[in-house]
Amino acid sequence: MPEQSILIIGGGPAGMEAARGVADLGYRAILVEKRSCLGGMPDEAGYAALTPDFRSASEATAEMVAAIENNANVTIRLNSTVTAATGRLGDFEVTLKNGQTAEKVKAGAVIIATGFQHFDPGRETQQYGYYEFDDVITLVDLEKMLKEHNVVRPSNGQPPERLCFIQCVGSRDRQIGNEYCSKVCCGVASKEAIEVRQQLPNCKVFIFYIDMRMYGYWENLIYWPAQEKYKVSYIKGIATEIMKKGDRLLVRGEDTTMGRPMEVPMDIVVLSVGMESSAGTREMAQIFGLKQNKYKFIETIGGALNTVTTNVEGVFVCGAATGPADLEDTVSSANAAAMKALAAVQRTQRLAG
Ligand SMILES: Cc1cc2nc3c(=O)[nH]c(=O)nc-3n(C[C@H](O)[C@H](O)[C@H](O)COP(=O)(O)OP(=O)(O)OC[C@H]3O[C@@H](n4cnc5c(N)ncnc54)[C@H](O)[C@@H]3O)c2cc1C
Ligand code: SF4
Repeated sequence: MPEQSILIIGGGPAGMEAARGVADLGYRAILVEKRSCLGGMPDEAGYAALTPDFRSASEATAEMVAAIENNANVTIRLNSTVTAATGRLGDFEVTLKNGQTAEKVKAGAVIIATGFQHFDPGRETQQYGYYEFDDVITLVDLEKMLKEHNVVRPSNGQPPERLCFIQCVGSRDRQIGNEYCSKVCCGVASKEAIEVRQQLPNCKVFIFYIDMRMYGYWENLIYWPAQEKYKVSYIKGIATEIMKKGDRLLVRGEDTTMGRPMEVPMDIVVLSVGMESSAGTREMAQIFGLKQNKYKFIETIGGALNTVTTNVEGVFVCGAATGPADLEDTVSSANAAAMKALAAVQRTQRLAG
């Protein structure tokens, strides 16, 4: 008889939602996470409030964990990853490694949910001095400060009077080969800009952008309130260089609306880093023989009409392992992957029976 369990690799929002979907349909999910806890990047990076509804990220994560933690249909393997896989749809055998211990598990289908990593702003060709200047930080660093209600200049512990975001760091950049848009950073920067204004009403906040990309309802929920209610200044411009001037930073570039060079002093510069494929995503692609696109995200074979099926029958993918995705995309694709994985397993059962 074909095996019915679904093995899900990655315990972030995508993996947790896929496990819940499989369990809700009455099947067994085995969820493998390499960290010591579930939650994925929102937990690992310490997100404060989520875009677009400002819901607490910890609360949302706890809700997802609670749905699967004591669920009789879900087996969770923490501190574990997959080191080998053999077999086919209906009959996979996968080796899990936990420290020195290896365990073989059977699964009818596999869902890859190994997510993304943040772009490293210190990478070559990046001219923003992330590793050089203490007061140049990333969206993720600011998120942690917002969570602690302690937005201060790392160089001197003082609250900033002027703070700016630089958009598209590591995305839409042909020079480094990341031509794609990371989808979430315009919304996340605008949300953080609002929170800075809420926590530090005297701090002036600027966002330097190429063009603002707000999807769907994010426009009304974050972009317009940021400008109209919270007086965040959006400046269409390209920042080319950050320098130190006295005890402040000087952002140099071009104001493209006015068509003139700009030089503006700042206390904190926040780099809006984008999304790249994670090491785990690349490893799983190798182990399962999955096609990757030129950016090393896992390629799906159905175009816009099937966003979760890979080139290997019985192996599905969801969330940010397929490319930049917000939580809404992630959760939707996780449910699609759960449904398609179960449908594939049931099909093999019908054929076998
Ligand atoms: C700065 C920033 C802020 C963001 N804020 C928001 C927001 O406010 N709202 C929103 O909608 N979206 C936001 N996003 C997007 C959001 O983080 C993603 O949509 C979401 O995390 C994707 O979930 P995922 O489960 O696919 O991947 P991840 O969250 O990356 O989770 C992947 C999981 O897989 C595990 N894993 C990796 N490799 C292996 C392996 N080999 N074996 C086992 N486990 C493995 C990881 O440890 C991790 O737990 C933000 C993104 C960025 C860049
Ligand atoms: S979402 Fe905005 S900041 Fe992020 S890559 Fe796209 S345009 Fe740039």
